[in-house]
Amino acid sequence: MMKFMSVLIAGGLLMPAPAAQMGTANRFTPDCFFALHLEPTTANDTLFAAVVRLVELAERYKVKVTFEFTPQWAEMILADEKKLALLRKWQKNGHEVGAQHHPMFHPGGWDGYTDVDPKELKDTRIDAVGRSRPREKYLGTMSDFMRLLNRLAAPERVVTGAFGRPPTWSQVPARLEFPRGVFYETEGIHEPPRPPRLIGRQHWELPMFFVGNDAMVLELSQMYEETKEMEGDIVGFITHEFNFQGAPDVIERWFKFLQSKDPEGKHNKTVSQIMKERLAE
Ligand SMILES: [Zn+2]
Repeated sequence: MMKFMSVLIAGGLLMPAPAAQMGTANRFTPDCFFALHLEPTTANDTLFAAVVRLVELAERYKVKVTFEFTPQWAEMILADEKKLALLRKWQKNGHEVGAQHHPMFHPGGWDGYTDVDPKELKDTRIDAVGRSRPREKYLGTMSDFMRLLNRLAAPERVVTGAFGRPPTWSQVPARLEFPRGVFYETEGIHEPPRPPRLIGRQHWELPMFFVGNDAMVLELSQMYEETKEMEGDIVGFITHEFNFQGAPDVIERWFKFLQSKDPEGKHNKTVSQIMKERLAE
């Protein structure tokens, strides 16, 4: 009952404010976020330099970045004053520091953190590619994960993240490793625009649509055109640092599309900004 009530209330709260029709007649402008995934296997200077270029590009197009950092990126940035100073500047400019967790047997590599007892790891059976044990080292619990990520976000706290789903193909205890203190989860691979969904007491799930090439930019642009104001649709764009490094023009085409729809970039927001605005209404 409590849960039912809160869903009802939340449903009401999530209606967006009347959209300002900024010159685009009869067309509502959906809130958009841009989640950038920083992978466990790519924390190096070359890709950090690509991220610097990407943030410059985003700022030129008035796009806000929601970084979803794995612990490997947090370690690298915290260990380097120059990188950390840049990150602090980005935060001041309105970008958000969020987290990304790769659970055990994630095809892109485990980040080393889990709430599974390390002693259980030796009994863990087989994943899709036939590994019976994770190849990566155990680094800590999900509380350790959050301590590290919150140091990276300080003085802010991490409230947004992508946490993957438990690997259904293995015998790893199928629990979602969604840490305390995080409220907004970006989820999915090709999730079309929709409103945020309340799936736990304070656990909101927002859709993300992976973009790695021009066909995907086109697909998401078409879905953007079909978003509905009454539904409170939001558009979530996710890509990786290595996608940008390999094809920066693809990401720029999405930024250009957004600029053509919303020249002032008023609806380009971070995930926590979208949610705070909606929950305050
Ligand atoms: Zn990832």
